[in-house]
Amino acid sequence: MELSRRHFLSGAAVVCGSAVCGCAQNPAGRSALTGFTSVEQDVAVGQRELPKLLEAFGGAYEDPRLQRYVDGIGKRLAQRSEMPDLPYTFSIANSPVVNAFALPGGPVTVTRGLITLCDSEAELAGVIGHEIGHVTARHSAERQGQQVLATLGMAVLGIATGSREVAQLAQVGAQAFLSNYSRKQEMEADTLGARYLDRANYDVSAMASFLGTLGDQSRVEARTLGMEGQIDQFNMMASHPRTVDRVEAAIAAAEAVRQEKPFLGRDEYLDIIDGILFGDDPKQGIAFGTRFVHPGLRFEFTVPDGFRILNSAANVMARDPEGAIIVFDMAKTRSADLRRYVANEWAANARVSGVEAFTVNGLPAATGATRGTVNNQPMDVRFVAIAGEGASVYRFMFATPPGRTASLSEPLRRTSYSFRRLSAAEAARIEPLRLRVVRPPSGATVADLAQGLPYGRFNADWFSVLNGLAPGERPQARDRVKVVA
Ligand SMILES: [Zn+2]
Repeated sequence: MELSRRHFLSGAAVVCGSAVCGCAQNPAGRSALTGFTSVEQDVAVGQRELPKLLEAFGGAYEDPRLQRYVDGIGKRLAQRSEMPDLPYTFSIANSPVVNAFALPGGPVTVTRGLITLCDSEAELAGVIGHEIGHVTARHSAERQGQQVLATLGMAVLGIATGSREVAQLAQVGAQAFLSNYSRKQEMEADTLGARYLDRANYDVSAMASFLGTLGDQSRVEARTLGMEGQIDQFNMMASHPRTVDRVEAAIAAAEAVRQEKPFLGRDEYLDIIDGILFGDDPKQGIAFGTRFVHPGLRFEFTVPDGFRILNSAANVMARDPEGAIIVFDMAKTRSADLRRYVANEWAANARVSGVEAFTVNGLPAATGATRGTVNNQPMDVRFVAIAGEGASVYRFMFATPPGRTASLSEPLRRTSYSFRRLSAAEAARIEPLRLRVVRPPSGATVADLAQGLPYGRFNADWFSVLNGLAPGERPQARDRVKVVA
């Protein structure tokens, strides 16, 4: 969440959601030559969507040295593609989410979270090559649409508040926040990516090794979130459905299996990423598990166990695997009485019942509830407004499927009461985490080295994933390891 109050639209970036991002020609390969769109249109769409995509994923990560490095890898691969003259750009999104995106006509984006997970230059090149493959094959992504909006809580806002900004959002709702490629498109992107890697003399097997890491990361993340057996839709495995088998088949199809002295670049890579921010950037607020702390805006709150926090420029959202949603943001009020604010300003277009005043850690607050329909699903919606400085107000919106409203009532009440302002001294003490590359001291265990990670009892699992260690493998199996401090 950022200081500015650019509201909900900014959270609704479209990855490949425009109708003109067509499924037409495929200059990089075989199939379909019945195009609707020109490459020029692709380029225009990509350039238009890139700022929205970056904004939704934390803005650009500012690190000139890392940026030059990523540019170098990207250009090396793009020059060897079938469309070397496209205006490719290679952006790093300042987000701890692990993902990568391609927009039509050239913009490729990787997240900071993905960069920390890669273990060599060739692994990162594999991701970038795959994304360039989506660009050159001119893949359109299938749209998840409504379901994703519901997940993000945006449709809830529309129903409950009826505001104009949110009505505009509903228009965007036909498009997707995150797009899913088909398996066939993934296979094609892998085949093309493997071709570009081979031509640039990168170790092509890094594509498969990184996919293995991504699989491990998805599993550990699911376990951390209490969602075992499911894949979070923000995870790269959801938007790029791949398996190691299929990637190996793609490498074979690209005839990139036998390489002489290919380049892996592990040492170069570890040198470059030493010191990169890990997890959330404090400028945007930090989630420590279920606790969200914003040193810039000086507040904190804690969501119930099982909820996953997703922080964006516009607001902080959290959801649990069964579809309950929390949306936290800030607004301005014209009413001195927060009860009036809840009933007449915030939820002016909804019939709000049970409006009452209370206090949260000494701050005046008010609450009220309504029933709405979200994507044809009934939801109970509770509003909580807490007084901020001057005319500002902190807002929680809790949306729960009616069958779960009673059981979630107490945990969500605790979330409201967990809200508190931080003192300047408390805020100043909150430091970002950084990735450090160190030699594992002899005798150090995984548990020792995992101490700085923010995942509590899952720290050791995350450490192993970050370092590509098999369960039970000792850290000394690597000459250098990634730790967090
Ligand atoms: Zn893909």
